[in-house]
Amino acid sequence: GANRTYNFCSGPAMLPEEVLLKAQSELLSYQGCGMSVMSLSHRSDAFLSILSQAENRLRSLLNIPDHYHVLFTQGGASAQFASIPLNLMQPGKPGGYLDSGYWAQKAIAEAERYGPVKVVASAAESNYSRALLNGEYSVGAKLSYLHYTPNETIDGVAFPDVPQSGQVPLVADMSSCILSAPLNVADFGVIYAGAQKNIGPAGLTLVIIRDDLLERCGDRVPRLMNYATLASQNSMANTPPTFAIYMANLVFEWLLENGGIPQIEKQNQRKAELLYNAIDSSSLFTNAVEQGSRSAMNVPFSCASAELNERFVRQAEQAGLMNLKGHRSRGGMRASIYNAMPYSGVEALVNFMQKFESQYV
Ligand code: PMP
Repeated sequence: GANRTYNFCSGPAMLPEEVLLKAQSELLSYQGCGMSVMSLSHRSDAFLSILSQAENRLRSLLNIPDHYHVLFTQGGASAQFASIPLNLMQPGKPGGYLDSGYWAQKAIAEAERYGPVKVVASAAESNYSRALLNGEYSVGAKLSYLHYTPNETIDGVAFPDVPQSGQVPLVADMSSCILSAPLNVADFGVIYAGAQKNIGPAGLTLVIIRDDLLERCGDRVPRLMNYATLASQNSMANTPPTFAIYMANLVFEWLLENGGIPQIEKQNQRKAELLYNAIDSSSLFTNAVEQGSRSAMNVPFSCASAELNERFVRQAEQAGLMNLKGHRSRGGMRASIYNAMPYSGVEALVNFMQKFESQYV
């Protein structure tokens, strides 16, 4: 058999083994057609049916209402940091942002290149150890949109509630939490996510947009970033990332076959609880995030010294627990435990942590 490890990378992340095996089984000849799915014309019936199946499966997983478009695009969430202001900013109305951590700040910095930005609230005073809660800030009506980052991948902070933005369209960077728990799409103007955590391989970016917002997208927006163009061309404004869409379709199928989002949320909660309990009951490891703001997807933790952290990461790797090094800007460790991380992977990590602790405490 293959020499597999548990991969705790923040992204690209693990994919479900069933999905990899299915892709392997039809890699050389997709459904007997004599060529790899990677080589199918994006205009072929075979690919068009993959594309529409992927969209339909996503719609059923998330109960996406009919007045929303699903766009399959490229450039990662980072390209969306520009696409959002370019498409949605209206004259005289700044883009509103909640500054909740590393990725929110990246979104803010990019938006500032294109128009006025208003930071509505910031978690800086807490050193980004907690989410921004409804009632702590007011949004007002004079914003083009309100952008937030429901799950801060690096800080390990998750918003417990959806921000109340009134009539202002809410825009969410769901790169590291999409498909991990139920959500009400109708609460949002735009949802976007890079694929490489909970959707599939890198190279695909998902956008879900409420139809009325397509009217804002002006002619000066680069064609491949223009939501109205992507929508009217059915995500085929140029060659789409066909293989990544095929893989996403298999991941959506896997989710549906395993009880959909409610079921995966239960598993995600069990995994997160196991890991946070291990951290909280340890005298070696700490996590600085406030209880109600802890992410179920990305769990940062650390020991008291950089030297111990390095030793932990190195020894964990020797035990087949990969990519536990924290983000270069934050140090320490971080375990990303997205949908495809099995419970047994978190158990293996917790067992390793306990063994490591017994050596040093
Ligand atoms: N936003 C969030 C919340 C992320 O986690 C990431 C990637 N880790 C990004 C944006 C950037 O994504 P990409 O590399 O796909 O541009």
